Amino acid sequence: MKTLDRFRGPRISVDNDRCEVYGICVQEAPRLFQLDRDGRLRYRRQLEEADYGQAAAAARCCPMQAIVLRGMSDE
Ligand code: SF4
Repeated sequence: MKTLDRFRGPRISVDNDRCEVYGICVQEAPRLFQLDRDGRLRYRRQLEEADYGQAAAAARCCPMQAIVLRGMSDE
């Protein structure tokens, strides 16, 4: 089903109910997370293998445990 294809594969999600926009993930994984000028967190959901290290570091360092990683081969 085409609409489900974009949800397959390694990916990040952020629980907006937990995230307090501290920005630690931006420091740990600048290729994946950015803060907008208006203070909103933006992130790239689809992961490539080269992103795994930064994604894992961001998830590990998030003080709110708001970052969820799915579909990574070493999880
Ligand atoms: S480190 Fe966690 S709480 Fe802080 S902005 Fe990133 S996801 Fe949100």
